[in-house]
Amino acid sequence: MGCINEITGTTKLTGLLGSPVAHSKSPLLHNEAFRLLALDYVYLCFDVTEDELATAYEGLKKINIAGFNCTMPDKTKICELVDELSPAASMIGAVNTVVNQNGTFVGHNTDGIGYIRSLKEEGFEIAGKKMTLLGAGGAASSIMVQAALDGAREIDVFSRKGRFWEKAGAMVADINAKTPCKATLIELGCEDTLGASIQTSDLLCNATTVGMAPNIDGCLITDKKMLHENLFVSDIIYNPLETKLYQMAKNAGCSVSNGLYMLLFQGAEAFKLWTGQEMPVEEIKKKYFNL
Ligand code: NAP
Repeated sequence: MGCINEITGTTKLTGLLGSPVAHSKSPLLHNEAFRLLALDYVYLCFDVTEDELATAYEGLKKINIAGFNCTMPDKTKICELVDELSPAASMIGAVNTVVNQNGTFVGHNTDGIGYIRSLKEEGFEIAGKKMTLLGAGGAASSIMVQAALDGAREIDVFSRKGRFWEKAGAMVADINAKTPCKATLIELGCEDTLGASIQTSDLLCNATTVGMAPNIDGCLITDKKMLHENLFVSDIIYNPLETKLYQMAKNAGCSVSNGLYMLLFQGAEAFKLWTGQEMPVEEIKKKYFNL
């Protein structure tokens, strides 16, 4: 059972829109942070598909919600609905946090900031490093943009020629034009090309859904020989905590991390945007993340 504040007539509403959302840890961490800081807010989950998003958004505007998070599949579509986009959200083309600023709904993206902060927490500094990034969806986009903004030397983005291919091409071009980072988009499929990229990388990040429950046997790395001991392997999936890639990397002697810290720190950034206060992350870590 979550432990939330006493709800009164003045309690401000925040929450999460996406589908599915019932498994989300976000209500636990935000409601606990509100309670610890005695803030008069509550955080709830709303199962909203992409088709229902415009209607839900209008309703939330009408009732003057304080702010909300967006997760799959709503992160892209919400960009068309909000009144304004932050510079990072506009570059990424995806929003995971909406803030009600006196009736103006502003879309932000805290995933990238949360990811880079999670790497720091694990002792990995992105500046000057090369990353091999798997995926080009919402989370991958935020990670590549923030890594480039924070000084990554080189990023190889591996993606299928799927839904996000064209958008990823434009984003890579944008990174190359606006930052000193050298970004390249490469079609996923050739093991040798992927292996060669990983051999010269400091960081391998899985930002695809491959390996996520219920399809826990999925893994885009087919052989642990593709990894090396000096590689930091981060799988941003947190369900399960140890994906097939995570286990393979641990067995290969790599430093590894899962998506829990990213989840915590993207939430902490959203919390700050809504309340103006720092989330008490040490308490939250102990209580809900066993970290
Ligand atoms: P998304 O926008 O739907 O992107 C999914 C990506 O995975 C796309 O690039 C997709 O490629 C790729 N993909 C899916 N199946 C694939 C396959 N079989 N082979 C190759 N690529 C495949 O989703 P998202 O919001 O970025 O989320 C991605 C993952 O990150 C999810 O597991 C989510 O739980 C996790 N996540 C974690 C955090 C955290 O805080 N830890 C935050 C956000 C997301 P196509 O375009 O070809 O389908």
